Amino acid sequence: MKILLVEDEKALREALRDTLATCGYTVDCRENGEDALDALCTGGYDVALLDRMLPGMDGLDALREARRAGVRTPVLMLTALDAVGDRVAGLDAGADDYLAKPFATEELLARVRALSRRPAEWEAETRLVRGDVELRPDSRILTGPAGAHTLSQRECAMLELFLRNPGVTLSRERILLYVWGPESDVESGNIDNYIHLVRRRLRLVGSRMELVTRRGAGYLLEVAPC
Ligand code: CA
Repeated sequence: MKILLVEDEKALREALRDTLATCGYTVDCRENGEDALDALCTGGYDVALLDRMLPGMDGLDALREARRAGVRTPVLMLTALDAVGDRVAGLDAGADDYLAKPFATEELLARVRALSRRPAEWEAETRLVRGDVELRPDSRILTGPAGAHTLSQRECAMLELFLRNPGVTLSRERILLYVWGPESDVESGNIDNYIHLVRRRLRLVGSRMELVTRRGAGYLLEVAPC
C-alpha cells in the first residue's frame, strides 16, 4: 500500500516515514503544498497524510485544489490546531479524517488502517464493470454472461482488487494487505485458497477472464476482450 506523507517538519516527517515503512507501507514524502498537490494529482496513493500548515500553499488549499481536480484519495489531515472550527475547515476542504498533533503513533496507524479499508475512491463506485463481468461491491453480486452469484466478503474484496487493477501483477503482500489488512496473521496458503475460489466464481458466471499465476511475482487478472 502506498502512502503520501506531506510534512514540512523534518524530524516528524522522518519519524513518521520510518514508522510507516516498518509497518509495511511504501511511503513517498513531500515538504510543501505545491509538491503535495502534484503528488496527489497523480492519483497513485492509497492514503495521504497531509499536514495542514505548510510553507507556500497550505495543506487546506492543496487538498481543496486536489478535490477540485477530481482526486479521491482518502486524506488524513494532520494539524497542530485542534479547535472545532479547524476540524470543520479540514473536513470542508475534503479531508476524510483529522488528527491533531501531538498524536500517538498507534492512533495514527489505526486511522490509516481505517482509511485504507474503505478508500473514498472505491466507495464512490457502486458498480464495477470490467471485461465480461460486473461486480457490485456493496451487495457482493457478481454478474457474468452465464448468470449472477453472491460472493463472500473476502472473495468480493479480492476480486474487487483485481478488477480495479486489470492487467497488473499484484504481489501476495498487496493482496494480503488489501483483503486481510496490515495486521492480520493470515497464512499465506489462504491467498491460494481464495484465488482458487475467485477463479471458480468467474467460471460459474461464465466469464472468460483468467486469474493468472505469475510465479514469484503474484497474480494477474487477464481481461479477455468482449
Ligand atoms: Ca507544518
